[in-house]
Parts: sequence; C-alpha cells; structure tokens
Amino acid sequence: MTRVLVLNCGSSSVRYRLYDGSDVLAKGLVQRIGESGGDAADHDEALRTLMDRLDLSGLAAVGHRVVHGGERFTTSTVITDEVVAAVEELIPLAPLHNPGALTGIRVARKLLPEVPQVAVFDTAFHSTIPPEGVLWAVDRDLAERYGLRRYGFHGTSHAYVSRETARVLGTPAAETNVITLHLGNGASAAAVRGGRCVATSMGMTPLSGLVMGTRSGDIDPSLVFHLHREAGMSLDEIEESLTRHGGMLGLTGANDMREVQERVTSGDPDAVLAFAVYTRRLREYVGAYLAVLGRVDAITFTAGVGENSPEVRAAALSGLEPLGIRIDEARNRANALIISPPGAPITVCVVPTEEELEIADESRRALSL
Ligand code: ADP
Repeated sequence: MTRVLVLNCGSSSVRYRLYDGSDVLAKGLVQRIGESGGDAADHDEALRTLMDRLDLSGLAAVGHRVVHGGERFTTSTVITDEVVAAVEELIPLAPLHNPGALTGIRVARKLLPEVPQVAVFDTAFHSTIPPEGVLWAVDRDLAERYGLRRYGFHGTSHAYVSRETARVLGTPAAETNVITLHLGNGASAAAVRGGRCVATSMGMTPLSGLVMGTRSGDIDPSLVFHLHREAGMSLDEIEESLTRHGGMLGLTGANDMREVQERVTSGDPDAVLAFAVYTRRLREYVGAYLAVLGRVDAITFTAGVGENSPEVRAAALSGLEPLGIRIDEARNRANALIISPPGAPITVCVVPTEEELEIADESRRALSL
C-alpha cells in the first residue's frame, strides 16, 4: 500500500494530490470555499466532493501540510487528538495559516477514520538551526513567555531541494553544503550543512527575510511604531499593509514577477528599482549564508521565480565571481539543472520543488511504510 493523499488546506482553498509511490494519480484545487460562486460551501463539502471523485482504494495515509509546528513539532507526526489540540494551541503564531489545516485535518479524519493521517510541518526542517540562529536579542522573559524566536517556513521545499541538489552533484547529502533560495509568491533562503538546516530567512512568521510578492521581508521594526504614532494606523492595518501591500506589489503595483520584468524591459523606473531591491536582498542573504556555512558546494534556485527567471538568478548572483560563483548565460537562459559553467567552485542549480511529493514521502516515513 503506497497510495498517499496529500492535502494542503488554506483558509479558502484545498489543494490535493493523490500519489502512488511518486506517480501522481490525481491532482486539483478547490477554490474560493465559502464565497458566493465558489467551488464549495465549506471545507466539509470540498473534501467530501473530492473524496467521492477520487479512487481512494488502498489508501495508506493522508498527509496534511501544516504551516506552523512551533517548538513542539520538529518532525512529521502521526495525527492523534492530542496532536490536533497542540496544533490548535499554535494558532496565535500562525493565525492566517493553521486554522485552514486544522479544518482539513478534522474533516479528513471524520471522512476517512480508518486511514492514518500525518501532519507535515513547514517549520520542522528548520528545527536543527542552532540557538544562536534562532534567538533574537530581546528580553528573554518576554521571548520565553510568548514564543518569540525564529521558526522558519517552506521547510518541505528547502529539505527536498537541498537533497535533490546533492543528487545532482553526485555527493552524499550528509557531506553537501547548499544555499537554497525558494522564490515563489512567498520567498525564503536557507543554509543547509550536510542535510541539516542551519539558517533561514523567515522568522516567527513568514514575513521576514527576502522581498516577496506582497510581503515586505526584512524591515526595521521601528517602522511599525512610527506608522502607528505618525499615520494613526492600527496594528491590524500595519500588519495588513506589510503582509498584503508590501513586497513587489508595494513597490510597483504588481506582485507577479513576470509583469515586473516586462516593465523593467520597457524601462519603467519603479520596476527597475524594485527589481534591484529584490535581487540585492537575495545577494545579501547569499553573502550571509556563505559566511555561515564557510564552505558552499551549491546554490539552488527553486519555486515560480527561482525556476523560471534567468533575469532574477543572474542579477542575484552578479558580481560574486571572486567568491567562486559564476553563471553560464546559455544554461541560465534554458533554465538548465546546472547553470554554472563546468569547473566553477560553487555549482549553481535550478531544481523544481516538489512540496507535495515531499509531504507524501514524509507521511510514509512517519508511518514507516
Ligand atoms: P506560490 O508561492 O504561490 O506557490 P509559485 O512558486 O508558483 O507560487 O511562484 C509564483 C511566482 O512565480 C509569481 O510571482 C510568478 O510571477 C513567478 N513566475 C512564474 N513564472 C515566471 C517567469 N517565467 N518569470 C518570472 N517569474 C515567474
């Protein structure tokens, strides 16, 4: 029995994939749940409909993507009532993300009571980051009481892509050091030493680090106090602004990197500057993680922008030749698996991420299937 159903439940959507081994038997997206004209009235109806449609015979597991695992979940975990309660307790740390996953878990357990279910956490891969990469220099009592620390996200992607990179290099993952750059709508960087994550750019929430589609990435936190005092904005309004009206959208009015790049080509100065802000931030993190790792074997780009934008990859790594980082223009244009020239000290890769497959594999690992 190798069939696994992977569910990625958001607040108003359900993404699913049914795997047999690594073969995809079915996949799809139920959207705008609960909205008028949406695909389903609620998660219950959405999951019921898709389970009716799918052939779930021989299903060995359901794997759920859960964004925040807090300090407690450092690995993929078989779901029990107690696990559900613990994920519920983490809602304050991920108010936008964990409730959707919890609804999915509840409904799927009800509809498939005989099938073991596994929670696969976006944060888990980052649990190996040493304390000095996790703690911020804030009041320790406050930090302990309120869980103020770096958790990191996109862990399934960083885990999968760093492992694949070792395969591409032909070296054991346990001996390979990789900087992974996951650049989608959300974006994060990670430093992986011998298969274990040692640094990442997202923090307590997925807001910090790289410039994203609509999220600001790193800012001076004083900006929040200033906006509250001087602009009279409430904390909710500021959060909304930084998470939904920041990033490339805030700088250019467009969150889609393709549109930004078209505007760069036509010489729009806002787009040119935004592209420079985006790629400079990437370069800063690459520099930081070269220093964290000391020896780097590969830098790997993944997700929508990372897999498809030669312009972003070239700009992000430009000027780093003295550090052993070079890009072959033709390979880069072709989105090739290896885009550095032969013999370059650091191999630059483009590895398509497979987060759902990683969740399916993790589910099997958690159940020892
Ligand atoms: P998500 O984070 O929602 O999973 P993706 O990983 O699919 O998103 O990434 C979406 C982003 O990828 C969008 O901003 C889109 O503009 C960008 N993208 C997709 N194709 C290209 C391309 N050819 N060039 C530049 N950006 C691209």
